[in-house]
Amino acid sequence: MPGSSIEECNDANYARGYCTDVETIREQEYPLLSETAYLDHAGTTLYAKSLIESFSQDMVSNIYGNPHSMSLSSQLSTKRAENVRLRALKFFNADPNEFDLVFVANSTSAIKLVAESLRDFDSRGFWYGYHIDSHTSLVGVREIADMGYQCFRDADVDAWITELGTEQSKVPKLLAFPAQSNLHGRRLPVRWCKQIRSATNGGGNNVFSLLDAASLVSTAPLDLAEAAPDFVALSFYKIFGFPDLGALIVRKSAARAIEKRKYFGGGTVDMVIASGAQWHAKKEASIHERFEDGTLPFHSIIALDAAIDTHQRLYGSMANISTHTGFLAKYVYDRLTPLRHFNNAKVCFIYQSSYGDPTSQGPIIAFNLRNSQGEWVPKTEVEKQAAKQNIQLRSGSACNPGGTASLLGWTTSDLRRHYIAGLRCGDDNDVLEGRPTGILRISLGAMTNRKDVDSLICFIKDFYVEKAS
Ligand SMILES: *Cc1c(COP(=O)(O)O)cnc(C)c1O
Repeated sequence: MPGSSIEECNDANYARGYCTDVETIREQEYPLLSETAYLDHAGTTLYAKSLIESFSQDMVSNIYGNPHSMSLSSQLSTKRAENVRLRALKFFNADPNEFDLVFVANSTSAIKLVAESLRDFDSRGFWYGYHIDSHTSLVGVREIADMGYQCFRDADVDAWITELGTEQSKVPKLLAFPAQSNLHGRRLPVRWCKQIRSATNGGGNNVFSLLDAASLVSTAPLDLAEAAPDFVALSFYKIFGFPDLGALIVRKSAARAIEKRKYFGGGTVDMVIASGAQWHAKKEASIHERFEDGTLPFHSIIALDAAIDTHQRLYGSMANISTHTGFLAKYVYDRLTPLRHFNNAKVCFIYQSSYGDPTSQGPIIAFNLRNSQGEWVPKTEVEKQAAKQNIQLRSGSACNPGGTASLLGWTTSDLRRHYIAGLRCGDDNDVLEGRPTGILRISLGAMTNRKDVDSLICFIKDFYVEKAS
């Protein structure tokens, strides 16, 4: 890594509330990170060594059977899974009387489960609204929204919520948005969920909210008592690095929206008549039992216990992580923004500007670079060069098509033209018509340190700031 050095960092927000200083945590828990600047925590954060050790200790010390039968090994799995479920709800301050948690593979599965179930709620299907900053996994829901859909910007959401108060229609409606953009880290107004509930007298008129919390929860607390969404999708690996597991959190009073799901499988039913009559009875005891198709990923669920333990021991709270990563993101922003070439031309174009305010901005930086002549530097070239310097970042549109197009100012017809010209997700058509087709993204995590971000800053200074010759 070019010119990086560990300087003492005395800022009060740096690793505030952590069990010890972040350099010690790094040495003990993430030894492999001493060799590289890992800046793709929005892809996944990394797991601590002691998490894997305590999980493997647990695995070799117990016999875990397939849950939900009478044997001791099965009972043990069931008990552990149910405890972890409650613990995970508590992690998001969700009262188990009000919310239930369905274990799923990842956020995308959680979103798909809501959408496919809501489709069976009413014979007309449902109407869907999604925010322009949505991940592709939210955008795709529109394909099964038979009553139509709309893509919203902030002001459209506000206007739509205002109209809800006077609307008589009972057409099922779902509004979905990310709590944080995975593209540029903007934190969206979670208050929308609460406003939808109050505009419809607590979920009457069949209007529901789906909060995609996948990006937010990796570096910030999520308080479901406060946020009050009907459905929440998230992936645990983005918080803890491991296990590969996700959750759909369901407000019990909104569960009717998804209860008419037609498919059943595995242990989700109390009785099935397999031949002769088409009859089955769904499980009645709890919401999660009706949605967890097939065998639970029980080893992963058990691993989540160790993940929460380890995380709390190392970092104390999500609020501490938000403070630490927010400080570092602003540190990067403040150092990249002023960079100039010899002719005073600007080097680094960052697409967000409110770094330092955790209510509106998370630790993700989307940017592009320009040379001294004002030409955009191809993003894949920067990514390749960064990889050679052992800096791991991401380039492209980060599965966020609406966000990318609006940052870069591409219209629908521009995008169609690009597709016809051969542009494909993940290719190296970096600059078309003199403008970038995607962005570079760095994203920070709980264990990111000054050295990581200094490596990036030095890299850009060394390779992309042109000095007078
Ligand atoms: C990562 C992410 C997803 C998708 O998560 P998966 O674990 O890949 O299903 C969806 N939305 C946002 C905002 C994300 O950051």
